[in-house]
Amino acid sequence: MANNPSISIGVLTSGGDAQGMNAAVRAVVRSALHLGATVHAIFEGYQGMVDGGDRIRAVSWDDVGSILHRGGTVIGTARCPAFREREGRLRAAHNLIRHGIDRLVVIGGDGSLTGADTFRHEWSELVAELVARGEIDEATAQRHPALMIAGLVGSIDNDMVGTDMTIGADSALHRIIEAIDAITSTAASHQRSFVVEVMGRHCGYLALMSAIAGGADYVLIPENPPPEGWEDQMCALLRNGRAAGRRDSIVIVAEGASDRAGNPLNADYVRQVLEDRLGEDTRVTILGHVQRGGTPSAFDRWMSTVLGFDATETVLSATPESDPVMIGIRYNRIDHAPLMECVQKTRSVAQKIADKDYEGAMALRGGSFTEMFEVFRRMAESMPSVTPPTQPRRLAILHAGGLAPGMNPAVRAAVRLGLDLGHVLLGVRGGFQGLIDGRIEELKWGDVEGWTSMGGAELGTNRQIPTIEQFYSVGRALETQRIDGLLIIGGWAAYKAIYELHRERDRYPAFKIPMICLPATIDNNLPGSEQSVGADTALNVIVEALDRIKQSATAARRCFVIETMGTYCGYLALLSGLAGGAERVYLHEEGITLKDLQADVENMLKSFEGGRRLYMAIRNERASPHYTTDFLCRLFEEESQTRFDVRQDILGHIQQGGNPSPFDRILATRLATRCIDYLTQQLAEKSTECAFIGLSEGKVTLFPLKEMADMVDWSYRRPKKQWWLGLRTIVHAMAQPSKTTTHKNKASRSK
Ligand code: ADP
Repeated sequence: MANNPSISIGVLTSGGDAQGMNAAVRAVVRSALHLGATVHAIFEGYQGMVDGGDRIRAVSWDDVGSILHRGGTVIGTARCPAFREREGRLRAAHNLIRHGIDRLVVIGGDGSLTGADTFRHEWSELVAELVARGEIDEATAQRHPALMIAGLVGSIDNDMVGTDMTIGADSALHRIIEAIDAITSTAASHQRSFVVEVMGRHCGYLALMSAIAGGADYVLIPENPPPEGWEDQMCALLRNGRAAGRRDSIVIVAEGASDRAGNPLNADYVRQVLEDRLGEDTRVTILGHVQRGGTPSAFDRWMSTVLGFDATETVLSATPESDPVMIGIRYNRIDHAPLMECVQKTRSVAQKIADKDYEGAMALRGGSFTEMFEVFRRMAESMPSVTPPTQPRRLAILHAGGLAPGMNPAVRAAVRLGLDLGHVLLGVRGGFQGLIDGRIEELKWGDVEGWTSMGGAELGTNRQIPTIEQFYSVGRALETQRIDGLLIIGGWAAYKAIYELHRERDRYPAFKIPMICLPATIDNNLPGSEQSVGADTALNVIVEALDRIKQSATAARRCFVIETMGTYCGYLALLSGLAGGAERVYLHEEGITLKDLQADVENMLKSFEGGRRLYMAIRNERASPHYTTDFLCRLFEEESQTRFDVRQDILGHIQQGGNPSPFDRILATRLATRCIDYLTQQLAEKSTECAFIGLSEGKVTLFPLKEMADMVDWSYRRPKKQWWLGLRTIVHAMAQPSKTTTHKNKASRSK
């Protein structure tokens, strides 16, 4: 693969812009240079390719510096009618060949990817015609027998079949949730209703996910229009919500929503219905282009970086026979799929909607989408008075471990669904000590109102794991409070505690109740779940801090050593390194050696000598017991010999703060729903099984508690398998222009 500067790849962004496109462009440029190829940016999408001239420019390492945090696309995008015509594509082919480009990374929507595919099919004919016209010679034609393509999907709608997420969708969700949170507070002040229209002509992803994350009352999406008479149902839900104590009502409408007969439903119609039937003061907010704007989320930055890296490797290793691929993310892993198959399936969703085959449209969206639609329906319909308790069971909820943003939305979902299923829900304040002390109260529907957007943990949490001496008191508390089932939402302490209680069941019969753990920790170090609630929020907080730290350093040549949390798990350090553009990441999983540090100092000096002004190293708090953050700073300072200065930033507890990100709210709601179902089922079956739940390969999965022992590294408090460790090499590729100074990847210590 590459190491040949005569191999040149082109990168362009096309169609609608999306946050994260810059991260992808940066990754393509740096990966290509890292791998020894030449890379050209094609400005203004296909228009730049058709126009040629200085719209196709070779780009250097530094040309893509400081763009990671910027929204939109710095290389521009455009709609280009000329590229739809053969003559336009002929000009484009000529312009590419002039620059020696026959490998392309195209970042755009289904239109752009279709254009790329057509171009590729025609390529040899176009080249032959250029020879026939005397515009290029035969030898040049023979050097470019085929066009090789990798496609990345840039689309805030998340409308492409074949990838779980498209570039920009998570950031758009951030913008929507920021707006909904703001609207909720004003709506609540006046007891108003709001109808919010979000983007999505053929895709209800943004509408559905923002409805879950924003705690909305009703949602209208294109793939699954509401049943006939939905207006009555919507009004009844809003009326019941008000009666139960809601001060705000929010309905989310996707721009492509319709009724089941295919008649478009717009926000204004919904407003009219609410005003006429409920007499509510109702306002409409159409979010429009705000959704495309702003800085990309941490997810859009790291995912786009990973995709850009992979796309570059893919086009560089492609042969003229290679089929074009679309590179996406499935279950947090890179996934290659035949480009046009994905485009065609995506188009067939739109066709199915047009044909009113809504079942078919939902099926193409996939199982998780259907599951989330059901989660939303259950959340929206769960009302205190809907299902009168028949055989009330007492379910207690408690937190254990460090604070994780998203704990509140998890409790809210559990309480509301639990009540809807006829249970009595008990909130334990202050973790296991609170249970022992009897700080337990019944939680009603209205008690968790507004908790969707709240950071922190209203029930309180701490890291206490009950000691052997406390087991008796814990058992007594479970008995005296007549607790039938326990949901523990938390981190390592929660998992360890349940594991211990489960082991002691024979000695303490009170522990023989169904219990389940829901992963909630910013560290993301729990078994059975690729993502824990809170980690995404923390990542966003860290990345925002890194942006500010970078800005603060514009005046000097400076090295920052930034310390992140995570205990022994390097997830936050590595992912924030990728998303924040760090040059080096120190993880406990790899350890730090003197030789590493020597190489780092050399790299640092080289990069400052080469004109760089900033070097950012991120160190996990437990990366090494001796090579501490302070030690690294002093070492670098000494070695710099005043050629640059060194500062340390220990980010500390801000990482646990902040309101939960959309992803964390959605994950919390999704997992809590399944936890309550699990406890309900165990109680119905008179089972006392215990489990932990998680997101594994994209699916909510339940693991029997006894499997925990085999899945974790007890001494370093992390799972034995950590999917994200595979991303380590990409940080390095983004930091080093050439292959010569590669760090070797050492074996994981966890093995
Ligand atoms: P998106 O890529 O976001 O779906 P568009 O559908 O507008 O956006 O496509 C962007 C550009 O891609 C178009 O302006 C055009 O230049 C090119 N393109 C789209 N469809 C085709 C096609 N069928 N053939 C050739 N070029 C196309």
